[in-house]
Amino acid sequence: MILLDIAKFKLIAFTCLCAMFCTISEAKNENATLVLLVGLPGSGKGTIGQLYEKHGWKHFSLGDELREALKNQNPIALKYERQIKDGAFLPDHVINDLIWSKILHQDNLQHKIILDGYPRNVSQAELFLKKLDETGMYNKTKVLFFDVGIMKSIDRICTRRVCTNCKKIDTSNVKICKNCFTPLSTRESDSMNKITTRFGNFIHNTLPSFFLLKDKCKHVYIIDANAKTKKVYFQIRKLLK
Ligand SMILES: [Zn+2]
Repeated sequence: MILLDIAKFKLIAFTCLCAMFCTISEAKNENATLVLLVGLPGSGKGTIGQLYEKHGWKHFSLGDELREALKNQNPIALKYERQIKDGAFLPDHVINDLIWSKILHQDNLQHKIILDGYPRNVSQAELFLKKLDETGMYNKTKVLFFDVGIMKSIDRICTRRVCTNCKKIDTSNVKICKNCFTPLSTRESDSMNKITTRFGNFIHNTLPSFFLLKDKCKHVYIIDANAKTKKVYFQIRKLLK
């Protein structure tokens, strides 16, 4: 009889513990948000992502992740060194693996994440939609399209300098990073001959993938990205409340 009571007590204690853990995990998950930034090179996605990072969001830029992997001599990144430096597309399996095993894994999906540069084509977008369902992130995902004029975006690309240390993007013509005082440099992929290819890729591959997301996702918004950073930030802040 006593043994039975002890077993019952253990079962109740275990149930309570499970309930407690579930509540904690659900409560944590309530804040989970995934925001995708889609737009031409130079539309300001990276700058906005960095601003959100300062406000406690986890920010990932696919381009930065690839350049970082290259810097760290990752064998796969080394294999695609030329494509990474040119800002060209890598095979889907490489990108999908990086995104779903290193960036959008379950631990990160418990947080507020802002992701810039993925999906880059329809096949990646199809997998993305499937994964949203599997991970329960479907209703927690927002897609922001940065609508910018081509001349505006070219102008930004021509003036932008990047810090190789802290990744800060600067378009104010200074030579030293205001954040960490490292000399700023230009990205190889921002040269004019690379930019025309990147624009072509965006129009032929990324834009159709955005239209697919627009059809399937609940929360899709167009941002006026011609405006100054502060104004763009306030447009987005209203949407992410
Ligand atoms: Zn810096």
